Amino acid sequence: MKLYFEAEKYLRSSGNERGSLQSRIFNEKSLTNSPKHVFALVISTLKYKEYIVKVIKASKLKASPIIKKLRVTDEMLWLLTHDLLFQAKGRIQSGKHPIKDAFLQHKTRLTSELIKLKLKYKIKSVEEFPNLKGQNDETPIRWFRVNQIKITTAVFFEKYDFFKKLQPVSDISEITSTGFLYQDDFVPNLYGVHNRELIMKSDAYAKGELIIQDRASCFPGHILFNDPQFQPTHIIDACAAPGNKTTHTASYLYDKPSSVVYAFERDNKRVEILKKMCNLASNKPNLIQITHADFTSVNPNDFKDIEALVVDPSCSGSGIFGRAIEDSLEQHKEEISTERLNKLSRFQFSIMKHALSFPGAKKVVYSTCSIHAEENERVVVDLLLDENVKKAGWTLAPRNVVISTWPRRGWPQEFTALQEEGRSVGDLAGGCVRAVAKEDGGIGFFAACFVRREAASRGEGEEKEEQEQELELEDELEEEEQEEEQEEEDWTGFGP
Ligand code: SAM
Repeated sequence: MKLYFEAEKYLRSSGNERGSLQSRIFNEKSLTNSPKHVFALVISTLKYKEYIVKVIKASKLKASPIIKKLRVTDEMLWLLTHDLLFQAKGRIQSGKHPIKDAFLQHKTRLTSELIKLKLKYKIKSVEEFPNLKGQNDETPIRWFRVNQIKITTAVFFEKYDFFKKLQPVSDISEITSTGFLYQDDFVPNLYGVHNRELIMKSDAYAKGELIIQDRASCFPGHILFNDPQFQPTHIIDACAAPGNKTTHTASYLYDKPSSVVYAFERDNKRVEILKKMCNLASNKPNLIQITHADFTSVNPNDFKDIEALVVDPSCSGSGIFGRAIEDSLEQHKEEISTERLNKLSRFQFSIMKHALSFPGAKKVVYSTCSIHAEENERVVVDLLLDENVKKAGWTLAPRNVVISTWPRRGWPQEFTALQEEGRSVGDLAGGCVRAVAKEDGGIGFFAACFVRREAASRGEGEEKEEQEQELELEDELEEEEQEEEQEEEDWTGFGP
């Protein structure tokens, strides 16, 4: 019953809740059940709520003296009815509890009310109820990539008959039902199928040979390697969990000896998910190296070999659909406040600024699953206007190395404050890509590709001078540390 007690409060709205339902559940430290389970239960209960309420009403459950006596809340009744009648397993969580016993006394009545309701709608299963909340929020296309770390694409299709038998189509609009397969034109080894295709039940998925990842979410990894003249082998993923971009990036390196993706994640729980995902996706020792740490606390001079970074920080998530289901909770109907967007963009700016300070980095891809310019183009422009970033020689990459054939680019009107010689706002916006939720077959997304100008254009002398200064500073710090150590050894004030 603990699962229901933990889920109950998320179905109740006080109007003061902060953040999305998902972030509130996943950030709740006191949950004893897995946040994933709590979230799935709450979302599914909201999906069927309209019909759950009808069944409860028709069964007169709330008038039952024992239910009244136990003061069972409406939300608890929705959850129990959901698990009993709107779930394939059709049972309440194990364990004894007076509320469970009282509720189950009404099982026959509830079941017969559901049957009547199904007859009324002329349907056989609860999934056929019309206008289910969130039904239109489902991803239109299920995207998966063949994980090159574990299997080549040719072997994958040889090995898995199920996938071989899918009928190829040349556009996602042709995926009208299960049975079709679209090979993506933009990201190698990426495929789209109908969202009802049961690919999560496949062996390939269980073995990590197939990884489910939204198309646009694969853009950052691909952009890193999109320029044939620049193929980095030492990369940092600054905000890594659950690990989609880490494992995707690593998949371009599987055959390059001594290449590495360093993945940073600061959250205790999410770092565990990251480890699990990377263990499943990679059997190459040291290809992915995970550190549980705040990326901004990492000293760039300890990573002089890093050539490229992916920075995919926390964002408003406004490009992720499935949010509509949360809108059935009143408080989510309001727009994301300007205050929240400002806070997020300040955080995104600072984490990116740190990324742009890595001395050997020549490319940094910034991304969010937000649709707001505040978190996207405006963060990019603020960075490019920053004196240190300018001094370090960063600019936006030209479109021809940023998935050039993808039609949706950054919003040009946002770049007017940037006056780079010889570059129009359209040209600068070409260094960014956008994806529109659903229309582009997945989530709403933004990515910008920062590159460093040739050393010559910022003055080789200047760069050399900076490096010498850094080395001097390091020597000084080392000397100071040695002195401190010596002082500590000399100190005999405390201890045995
Ligand atoms: N890139 C991930 C993927 O594709 O699977 C998704 C990243 S998610 C949008 C952002 C992640 O960054 C969260 O797991 C969050 O805990 C982490 N994060 C936020 N700030 C961080 C920081 N300063 N250092 C390291 N991780 C951070």
